[in-house]
Amino acid sequence: MNSNQITNEHHIKKQNLIRKLLMDRSQPGKVGAHTPESDVPKQQTLPNKYLREELPLPEVSENEIVRYFSQLSQFNFSIDHNFYPLGSCTMKYNPKINDEIASLPGLSEIHPLQPEESIQGALKIIFELQGFLAEITGFHSTSLAPMAGAEAELAGMLITRSFHKNNGNDHKTKILITDSAHGTNPASAVMAGFDVISIPSDQNGNTDLEALKAAINDDLAGLMITQPSTLGLFDTNIIEICKMVKDAGGVLYGDGANLNALLGRIKPGDLGFDILHSNLHKTFTQPHGGGGPGAGAIMVSEKLSQYLPSPIVKYEKNNSQNDYSLISPEHSIGKMGGFHGNFGALVRAYSYIKTLGKQGINQISQDAVINANYIKSHLEEYYDLPIKRKCMHEVVFSASNFKKLNGIRALDIAKRLIDYGIHPPTMYFPLIIDEALMIEPTETESKETLDYFISSMIKISEEAKNDPEILRNAPHNTPNSRLDEALAARKPNLRWEKESN
Ligand SMILES: *Cc1c(COP(=O)(O)O)cnc(C)c1O
Repeated sequence: MNSNQITNEHHIKKQNLIRKLLMDRSQPGKVGAHTPESDVPKQQTLPNKYLREELPLPEVSENEIVRYFSQLSQFNFSIDHNFYPLGSCTMKYNPKINDEIASLPGLSEIHPLQPEESIQGALKIIFELQGFLAEITGFHSTSLAPMAGAEAELAGMLITRSFHKNNGNDHKTKILITDSAHGTNPASAVMAGFDVISIPSDQNGNTDLEALKAAINDDLAGLMITQPSTLGLFDTNIIEICKMVKDAGGVLYGDGANLNALLGRIKPGDLGFDILHSNLHKTFTQPHGGGGPGAGAIMVSEKLSQYLPSPIVKYEKNNSQNDYSLISPEHSIGKMGGFHGNFGALVRAYSYIKTLGKQGINQISQDAVINANYIKSHLEEYYDLPIKRKCMHEVVFSASNFKKLNGIRALDIAKRLIDYGIHPPTMYFPLIIDEALMIEPTETESKETLDYFISSMIKISEEAKNDPEILRNAPHNTPNSRLDEALAARKPNLRWEKESN
């Protein structure tokens, strides 16, 4: 046996051990903890018919259970493990100071039903964050009630509907959406009762002005546009688009889920947008990606400020204990959830903005854009770059050159990256790019990390030509390799079953 075989065999043994479920590690009689004999008389708590004779619980020692859960936690990939260039998701590093501040007892142990005079500090944080975000994006007012980007979009569409209704414009029923938009945009518009029309992009990745012009008439309620677009490009027609929509009495909605390229450079409010949402869990840090809590801030121009979802925090100096209070704007579309939004996420965003300050916020966009362009310029001779322009905070390549060559697809390249310890980029989105690989490095990565990513991508491009099987079977170093992802999501098998020997 050569040393390579030994390593492989050892690797397989290790993998099998790690994959062992808790029940399969169980051995009769093993215990993890001893509790003292109870001196309280036994009570019958459940009717007998509900009591089971046999309840198979794992019998394991303390160190076995600790190792089991520690190993389980490492099956997951997170930004704290390694580079996570998942385009349009802004997996930037989340500074731990924000978690520490959100965990302070005065912030984490308050209750949403407490009297306002006892939570003035928390309300002040919300009030100041409303102001910071309005200033950063160039709008009149902010609501922090929505709990995700998509929920903020829904709020924005409901605002648009109420606004037109209040102005006697019930006939405004159409929302135009650019074809590079995130899938949540059309879903939100439809949920708010609008008809959706898709507007194509032109060859340069900008909104096709002729197509836009042709789609505009009196029933236009508004346009939803992502700037920079999900192609990672700044739509240079934006001023003209804005004018066309406004002239037809439409509302201009900006999807600012990812504002990293614009921070401190351009304020969407100054460009003429009426509404903008931003994902605090993307642009303004907050651990996300595992289905954890997010926050969608929605900012609006003055004419829409009375429609914002409630509650909003208002400040009025009245020398009492109630300077900060929760209010509902006059024509509010109502509440987006039970209480006041995801407060912990709001505290993290507040702490993030406060620690960075104005200069730090400017630095974000500078570094995010430079990092994406650094990757673009190093990889464009190895991967197809469908639209050859300077990119913003992300760059979209295509694997179509490999598909033509030998059938290697974006999925294979993405899966192979896992073997290099890197999270795959976003694949097959935006939909208008064949075999899309959408890479967003974010501003928090060092040049060394970017260089490692670039060299891995170059190696993979060579493998794709010379050794395509290694890509087709990737990843090779994970407990599970290729999964049927649709089946895993729709019919997850979450129950332990005894292994049949
Ligand atoms: C992530 C994202 C959304 C949706 O945000 P969620 O918080 O996931 O609902 C909308 N638009 C764009 C461009 C996004 O990247």
